[in-house]
Amino acid sequence: MAGSGPTRVMRDGATTTRVHLGHGLEVGGGGFVVVAGPCALENAEQVEKTVAAVAQAGAHALRGGAFKPRTSPYAFQGLGEPGLKLLAEQGRKLRRPVVSEVLDASQLPLMVDYVDVLQIGARNMQNFTLLRAAAKSGRPVLLKRGFGATLDEWLLAAEYLLDGGNEAVVLCERGIRSFDTTLRSTLDLAGMAWMKEKCRLPVLVDPSHSTGTQSLVTPMSLAAAAAGADGLLVEVHVNPAEALCDGRQALTPPLFDGLMRALPPVLSATGRSLARAEALHAVGGTR
Ligand code: PEP
Ligand code: MN
Repeated sequence: MAGSGPTRVMRDGATTTRVHLGHGLEVGGGGFVVVAGPCALENAEQVEKTVAAVAQAGAHALRGGAFKPRTSPYAFQGLGEPGLKLLAEQGRKLRRPVVSEVLDASQLPLMVDYVDVLQIGARNMQNFTLLRAAAKSGRPVLLKRGFGATLDEWLLAAEYLLDGGNEAVVLCERGIRSFDTTLRSTLDLAGMAWMKEKCRLPVLVDPSHSTGTQSLVTPMSLAAAAAGADGLLVEVHVNPAEALCDGRQALTPPLFDGLMRALPPVLSATGRSLARAEALHAVGGTR
């Protein structure tokens, strides 16, 4: 029997666990993986234009929320299943894995029909029944850090997934609440680097929710790459001013393209490069 600590997720040597996300893409194998797309899936045109642009710029996987955890019950809650259909269709077309957030265990049967990777968001990091159910889903899980969670609590949340039989877990640092409310969150890059030292799971950084500010997304992405993250989760919108959710932190497609061009020199300075996936070559991925 395992002890009461986070024993299964702890690093035992130099290797990071490789997690297969689908379509031949893996994270944790050394190649830097960029997951990009809108915060919320809004309509067919917005989804299609945004994901086509990020794929063209070299994004390895696509994201978009169909069930949105909004602070206000009156804010846009997401398209639900029609949104998942739009995202899944684009994933097939562009041959890239798709990631979307599951809010509740009751949504899992629906989610697994459409998504390659289940995102468990900051607000649900310690929803232990959801963690246990997601562990049994047969899908990889992207587990975000809760904005009030310590690093140890985050490790133990991941431990729930492994203890439940799911080894395919990717972590994502997305900023925490601190005394300073000037920015949306405080990006804990040192926490990410500590996690890489202690834990064998791949760790992504979300420069969008951790800054809440479009102009800070690229610099924090480059910092995350330099500091050893395994990849990024980035929000992009064709028209941020009209986004139904999180427009202020969304990159435009040209800004995202600029980020993708800025990453390789930073990665190569630390002996790394962007991930390559066979599937991406098949659709003429740019790099
Ligand atoms: C998101 O990725 O859209 C999201 C809601 O993130 P978080 O759970 O980190 O707030
Ligand atoms: Mn968002």
